[in-house]
Amino acid sequence: MSSEEINAASLGELARAEAACTRCPLYRNATQVVPGEGKVRSSLMLVGEQPGDKEDIAGKPFVGPAGQLLDEILEDAQIPRSAVFVTNAVKHFKFEPRGKRRLHRRPNVGEIERCKWWLEQERRLVAPKTFIAMGATAIRSLTGRSQPVSSLRGKTLELSDGTPLLATIHPSYLLRIRDPDDRARERLGLQQDLARGWEMARHLPQT
Ligand code: SF4
Repeated sequence: MSSEEINAASLGELARAEAACTRCPLYRNATQVVPGEGKVRSSLMLVGEQPGDKEDIAGKPFVGPAGQLLDEILEDAQIPRSAVFVTNAVKHFKFEPRGKRRLHRRPNVGEIERCKWWLEQERRLVAPKTFIAMGATAIRSLTGRSQPVSSLRGKTLELSDGTPLLATIHPSYLLRIRDPDDRARERLGLQQDLARGWEMARHLPQT
C-alpha cells in the first residue's frame, strides 16, 4: 500500500505507516523513523526541523541536546511538555558521515515537501489550536514560505484554515551561540515566543 492510500485512525497506526515510508531517500541511511510525540487533541503543536543523532537512535523527538534545552525552556515558560505535541517537519535524520560522527545536514525543499504529507496526517489527528514553527524548515513546511527565520520570528501567521502559527527559532540555534549574553537574550526570546503560543492555544476553542 502506498503512503497516499493510508488514512491512519490513530497516532500509533500513523507511526507504523511512517516507519514504512519511502517517499524520499532519507529512510535509507537513518536508523529509524521518528514520529511526533504527544496526545491527540493537544492544544499546541511544536514543529522542529528533523531528528538529530540522538533522536534517530532513540526513535523519539527532541531527546538530544536541543530537546533537553527545549524541555528547560518549556519549564521556564510554565508549559507542561505533556500538554504539547512535539514533532518535526522531516521524520528521518539526514546526515553526512564524518569518521565515527554523523553530521547534521539540512533537508532540502524536495524532502520537506515529500515529508509534509506526514505532518499533515499528524495535524489531522491531533487538531492543534495553534502551531509554533521552530526554524526555517518548519516554517517552509507549514506555510510554504522560504524566508529567513529572522524576518518572521515572533510573527503570527495564519494557515489556510485559519489556524494561527507563531514563527520562532529552533532551540539548536541557541547551542551554536558562543557569547553568553547573546545566548541568554535569544533563549529568553524563545521562551517568550513559546509562552505567547501557549497562551494563544489556551484561549482558543478546540475545533
Ligand atoms: S523523511 Fe519523510 S518522506 Fe522521507 S522517507 Fe522519511 S518519512 Fe518518508
